[in-house]
Amino acid sequence: MNQKTNINNLVRANIKALKPYSSARDEFKGTADVFLDANENPFGDLNRYPDPQQKEIKDKLSAIKKVATDQIFIGNGSDEVIDLAFRIFCEPGKDKVLTFTPTYGMYNVSANINNIEVIEQPLINDFQINLNQLQPYLDFEDVKIIFICSPNNPTGNSLNPEDIEYILENFNGIVIVDEAYIDFSAQASFIKNIDKYDNLIVSQTFSKAWGLAGVRVGVAYASQAIIAYYNRVKPPYNVSTLNQKAVLNSLNNLEEVTQNIDTILDERTKLKEALSKLAIVKKIYPTDSNFLLVEVDDANKTYQYLIEEKVIIRNRNTQVKNCIRITVGTPEENNTLIEALKRI
Ligand code: PMP
Repeated sequence: MNQKTNINNLVRANIKALKPYSSARDEFKGTADVFLDANENPFGDLNRYPDPQQKEIKDKLSAIKKVATDQIFIGNGSDEVIDLAFRIFCEPGKDKVLTFTPTYGMYNVSANINNIEVIEQPLINDFQINLNQLQPYLDFEDVKIIFICSPNNPTGNSLNPEDIEYILENFNGIVIVDEAYIDFSAQASFIKNIDKYDNLIVSQTFSKAWGLAGVRVGVAYASQAIIAYYNRVKPPYNVSTLNQKAVLNSLNNLEEVTQNIDTILDERTKLKEALSKLAIVKKIYPTDSNFLLVEVDDANKTYQYLIEEKVIIRNRNTQVKNCIRITVGTPEENNTLIEALKRI
């Protein structure tokens, strides 16, 4: 959409009319000596509710990502970012969303939970968007969200940024660019475009490059208008104190995070090389993420065999014929996998 989108026109009527819950910690934000406002227990270390707006995290992310704090939403994993988008923009039983397949399974599951139909467009030519096939859907008024996963799971590749911009410019609904794997990619993030496109949501996560999948923290970067709606519908205390602390700890140790990413990228190259020497491997798709999509002669058999060897990979045979998805592990883990595959 070239001109600025009026986000309000895309939001469900009940969400526009919603009077959000106002928590005790929303109403009083200052310092005080005695807090008797939230029915908390006065004893213990974790007796207080967490900061509902996750201010410290947003301040840090704002400096790192060069966006305003009111353009940031912190979610309970990026799965919450996805789910809330359905609740804000999609009228159950009426609206539709569009995905490019094969892709991350939760878009479909979240759509099903919210009773929203999914239009699936197959990716073509080594998993890129087919703009010609997409064109008619860009004008469908009941298509509210287009999900673009880049780098894409399970294929691993980044989608062409020019195609993504074309969609942003020509679609009147919301475009969610899911960048869960962006820190493993040479491509630039779409965060730089959130001021240009009011209908853009960039979703990122602490689960992958940051090594905090157990912590369940995801982030949405978007226009102030969209973030304001996210804040209205989110559960009041959606990110726990422990989880906020874990994220802050990582944000204060950026060097370690960068080092781990570098190690994973080195290991990715080595793993690719070792896999390419195996007779069962037919094709290794180009990757911009921390996993490889690999075509083998028989994905089901390879998957079962590796389970017996106590090595678990993902069988993606139903999505891409005879393909397995292998996450890059530690040098030892990757070695164990390769040695097992050599014995097949
Ligand atoms: N998006 C993609 C593309 C993913 O692959 C995943 C997790 N596998 C997620 C989002 C969910 O991430 P989170 O742990 O932040 O909920």
